[in-house]
Amino acid sequence: MAESPYKFCSNCGGSDLTPQSWREFACAACGYRHFITPIPAACALILDAQDRILIIRRGHQPGLGKLGLPGGVIEPEETGEMGAARETREEVGLDLPASAFTYLSSLNNTYPFQGFPWPTIDLFYVARVPDFSGVKADPAEVMEFMACELDAVDFDDFAFESNAEAIRRLRASISPIHAA
Ligand SMILES: [Zn+2]
Repeated sequence: MAESPYKFCSNCGGSDLTPQSWREFACAACGYRHFITPIPAACALILDAQDRILIIRRGHQPGLGKLGLPGGVIEPEETGEMGAARETREEVGLDLPASAFTYLSSLNNTYPFQGFPWPTIDLFYVARVPDFSGVKADPAEVMEFMACELDAVDFDDFAFESNAEAIRRLRASISPIHAA
């Protein structure tokens, strides 16, 4: 039996969901199809005038106490840029317009949620601010924040490898000498 986030049919309540593949489960009673699809998330790479990046220490699971970037699941009717702007406002209090965010790259990630390792597609956006004086972390989401030189980022302490890799790509895009 393939691992599934679905225990019952969401159409008829039947409990016999037959795997059609690793990512598709069909109800034996009514035929309703349930899928595992990647969840889009937007993450913000925010730089100050000295090319320092805003890094947060996560205040909740998964990855409680580990490093990360402001970000989260994109909501209906949002673009990636709008999601990045909203998450930035919610988590670290910086009120930047969606137009301040420029797409950098996308990376796959896995986010354990409600007992299932959901695949996500993390979309990374870059924004610049003069400095981080306006940062005000939401204690429900963020334990602390720090301004970090791109050459001094502790990549091993990140909750998600996608976040660490995005910072490496950003560093390479800013300073070609770092491109490996
Ligand atoms: Zn059904």
